[in-house]
Amino acid sequence: MFSGSVADVGGNPAPGDTVLVRTTAGVPIGYAAFSPASQIRARMWTFEASQAVDGAWIAARVAAAAARREGLLARTDALRLIFAESDGLPGVVADRYAAWIVVELTSAGADRWRDAIADALAALPGVRGVTERSAREVRRLENLPARHGVLRGEPPPERITIHEDGAAFGVDVVHGHKTGFYLDQRDNRRAVRACAPARRVLDVCTYTGGFAVAAALGGAPRITAIDSSRPALELAAENLAANGVADAELVEADAFDGLRELVTGGARFDLVVLDPPKLAHRADHVERATRAYKDLNLHALRLLERGGLLFTFSCSGHVSADLFQKVVAGAVLDSGREAQIVGRLTQAADHPVLTSFPEAEYLTGLVLRIVT
Ligand code: SAH
Repeated sequence: MFSGSVADVGGNPAPGDTVLVRTTAGVPIGYAAFSPASQIRARMWTFEASQAVDGAWIAARVAAAAARREGLLARTDALRLIFAESDGLPGVVADRYAAWIVVELTSAGADRWRDAIADALAALPGVRGVTERSAREVRRLENLPARHGVLRGEPPPERITIHEDGAAFGVDVVHGHKTGFYLDQRDNRRAVRACAPARRVLDVCTYTGGFAVAAALGGAPRITAIDSSRPALELAAENLAANGVADAELVEADAFDGLRELVTGGARFDLVVLDPPKLAHRADHVERATRAYKDLNLHALRLLERGGLLFTFSCSGHVSADLFQKVVAGAVLDSGREAQIVGRLTQAADHPVLTSFPEAEYLTGLVLRIVT
């Protein structure tokens, strides 16, 4: 509930307190966590006005979210257990990496229930430790300080090894991006792997080598990967080696410069993955972001052989799938190529989108086949 939709606050609730929400006519509609510092003034816990929100209720929601994902465990031991609003727990994100769970609490309400959340996560089978990683940037809007550290059990090791679809990845949950790994790209890694046989692959913004490893395991004869982060590339090298990939070429470069240099050098690829960081953090960044997306895609298209595939992504929630398609279409037009959309990609199912909260959809991707 945005601040502008709140007519009146009765009593004197503290940050994170559970408040009963009423319509202006006085009809109770549910319970929410109060966030006086944020433009998002209240986050709904439940639309059942008869439901008490307490530690047991929070624990039940945590357990239910984890139970919904049990089917994924056959494929991977790394998954998002709780995806905030989508799992009825606004402000709560929890990712599991083998025996360790990393939790991020981003709202006053989530902060209030830290202990109940930590207890419920620690009680899941096979969990050795629960660690919090609540960064300052996201919590600033709620006037909350950063919080890092072990909540339950053992601290995580420096490298946690996870296994996904038969691939092994080392994850650094303390220093890595997000909580350490791009779990949301799991199905898209599988799609790249399926298309990889006999294709020379370029993985742009490889981070710790997720797509590069998938392509190599899928049978790509040559892998080149670019990222601007040296620590990310160091872990990418470890991950490639751990999966028996000996000869990948890792390039530390800005993606724009690296791509331009490859174009100038006459390099050619049969499959390019383009997975840049979030380029639009706010609605008023969208225009600038679309220019950057178009530029990157244009360079990538110039490197692709006829018959080649481009897996191109945006993780900017403010850039809709529709807008992203238009931007990519513009890049194709400018490149003088002709391309078909042969696939549409999104975030993996452990990052679900509640129909009442479409804002949770942030990852959009296209698979293009270069026709001419
Ligand atoms: N494809 C990865 C996730 C990419 S996240 C995976 O599936 O795991 C975005 C990556 O882009 C990060 O590793 C970040 O270091 C890198 N990055 C950010 N800005 C960049 C730039 N200007 N040039 C190259 N890489 C950049």
